[in-house]
Amino acid sequence: FTDLDIADIRAQFPILKREVKGKPLVYFDNAATSQKPQMVIDALVDYYSNYNANIHRGIHTLAEEATAAFEATRDIVQKHINAADRSQVLFTKGTTEGINLVAQTWGRANLKAGDEVIISGMEHHSNIVPWQIVCGEKGAILKVIPVTDKGELDMEVFYGLLSERTKFVSIVHVSNALGTVNPVKDIITAAHNVGALVLVDGAQSTVHLDIDVQDLDCDFFAFSGHKMYGPTGVGALYGKADWLNEMPVYQGGGEMIKTVSFAETVYNEIPYKYEAGTPNIADVIVLKSAFEFIEQLGKSKIRAHEDELLVYGENLLLDIDGLKIIGQAASKVSLTSFVIDGIHPQDVGILLDNKGIAVRTGHHCAQPLMDRCEIPGTIRASYAVYNTKEEIDVFVDALKKAVRILR
Ligand code: PMP
Repeated sequence: FTDLDIADIRAQFPILKREVKGKPLVYFDNAATSQKPQMVIDALVDYYSNYNANIHRGIHTLAEEATAAFEATRDIVQKHINAADRSQVLFTKGTTEGINLVAQTWGRANLKAGDEVIISGMEHHSNIVPWQIVCGEKGAILKVIPVTDKGELDMEVFYGLLSERTKFVSIVHVSNALGTVNPVKDIITAAHNVGALVLVDGAQSTVHLDIDVQDLDCDFFAFSGHKMYGPTGVGALYGKADWLNEMPVYQGGGEMIKTVSFAETVYNEIPYKYEAGTPNIADVIVLKSAFEFIEQLGKSKIRAHEDELLVYGENLLLDIDGLKIIGQAASKVSLTSFVIDGIHPQDVGILLDNKGIAVRTGHHCAQPLMDRCEIPGTIRASYAVYNTKEEIDVFVDALKKAVRILR
């Protein structure tokens, strides 16, 4: 049950007023990127209209205002994910950069030949490739936790993979292709027992679940702003202070230094040590409004609404002859991935677009998972707080018509 006023929430998203192919837009591609509320759009316009300036170095008024707003986002991220200190929040361009940062700094400094890194069979390419790169360089071995037929991690196999050779575990919190919520706390505890560090890929979880990095006890946590009603091009990486202090720097340049001479450079303290160059000031500032939007509504209410949509949608979808839902984990959020016998996902996507309905079709940047399921890809409908049961009715109706045409 939720008392959110969805009509009022929808009114805050200007894009939901538009039509696509002469039909009202039904936007079910939220796992790729969510739409932005007016308060987020206004914050961007306000920054460029009123206090655009470079940060940290200037002593003039605009620079001070921009710096204060930029650092205020660090504070809201710290509070929202319950980091112990604001210096543990590093701004990145998104989840991908956060994972690459850890692989390129911690990984290059610590991995040796024969060491093992564990990921899972449901990782997004951004949590596979950075580890392949560093493992390849260091002669370390990448191990993979298999995915069960229900779309869950095979935890027994995971426990069996752990040994004193395991140095790092990098795991997705919520799968973008299946919606599965993984038992990250159990994974972290077990990994710590063998002395391994853990990174949690929070790209899909941060918008739906309460995140408490201290309770999780993860070593790193990465997420992207654009999947949580915020702007593209910005995200954050949380890290435990000991690791962030100890790790080598990521990129060199301005801002990440204390002093530079040709003989020697002294690096800045965390978080600035990892923030070389002029950052994405505008979008970092705007990210604060996205957190405020979510906090105003309350994550548990957002989740309750999305759960209702998920159950409602899956019941209707299962009525369609030959439709199979890929991923039926006991704990799942906000998206349904499915295939239909004899019909290519892409063809369905095109026919739905003709009706103004945006879904994702394809491998969802999780090709190894698609191989595991022996399918080329799925059709994915992913929901946000502004979606409605009426939109699901429109979607299922259009889907039934598409199936009739394609069969
Ligand atoms: N991990 C997961 C689970 C994702 O869904 C995504 C985005 N699709 C990413 C990582 C990468 O995020 P970004 O492209 O914002 O860096």
